[in-house]
Amino acid sequence: MIQQTPVMRICISCRKTYDRKHLLKITKDYKQGIVFQDGMGRSAYICKSKKCYSDSKIKKKLQKALKTFLEPEFIDIFEKELTNLQ
Ligand SMILES: [Zn+2]
Repeated sequence: MIQQTPVMRICISCRKTYDRKHLLKITKDYKQGIVFQDGMGRSAYICKSKKCYSDSKIKKKLQKALKTFLEPEFIDIFEKELTNLQ
């Protein structure tokens, strides 16, 4: 029997460590650009606590973590993804 150890990641907002499954993953994919929960490339994680994802500085934190500029359209998509989480 194979025991699966949870993959732990740090929320870019509160800096707490969580099981990967409980985090929203945002990846700067080298082909597709910014993708959610998928993709290959530099990734950032945000936990599902309202305090974190509704943080007014979250966009800045994401840009810093992904080392990229986020288009205004991204924020719309991001907010939709967050709504899906609830
Ligand atoms: Zn957090």
